[in-house]
Amino acid sequence: MEHYSRQMEALMEELGKLPGIGRKTAGRLTYHLMNQPEEAVEALAGALVAARKNVRFCRCCCTLTDQELCPICRSDNRDRSLIMVVENPRDLAAYERTGRYQGLYHVLHGVISPALGVGPSDIRLKELMQRLQEEAVREVIIATGSTLEGETTAMYISQLLKPGGILVSRIASGVPVGGDLEYIDEITLYRALEGRRAL
Ligand code: ZN
Repeated sequence: MEHYSRQMEALMEELGKLPGIGRKTAGRLTYHLMNQPEEAVEALAGALVAARKNVRFCRCCCTLTDQELCPICRSDNRDRSLIMVVENPRDLAAYERTGRYQGLYHVLHGVISPALGVGPSDIRLKELMQRLQEEAVREVIIATGSTLEGETTAMYISQLLKPGGILVSRIASGVPVGGDLEYIDEITLYRALEGRRAL
């Protein structure tokens, strides 16, 4: 027996595909949306479509942006000789929240994982190598997570860069495993960055 209108079912199903949203939450969100003024729902739908349509990889650091170059790469106030390599844009945001890092970033969009069939060419490593050829970089800080994949990726990058004579460093461990840097407080992140060691 159908309890809801077909459209509501469809909406619930779509919402339920989002990470962290189970059947129950999807139902709650659907009811909430149905009780909103039509304009509010249109604004939400419009924002979703516009963001998805316009957001792309920054030409330089590969983070997600709606312009050719992200605000960090465009800024005149960053130390361009320093590049921090992170797994994803959320990690970048976490380091930005510390407000203490003045260098640039490079976003890999993943980590090397032989178990999952993710090789070096599946993440944005080629783009990093290209940048290092074109820009005068003094140090590359590898801030991938402390998971097995994060460490594997760090070692791989370090071996790739070392012959080029660039200083390669690794953030101090102490950053919890799992890569969810979003939930780590700024002080811990800043300490991990300050405590980095050369590889
Ligand atoms: Zn950028």
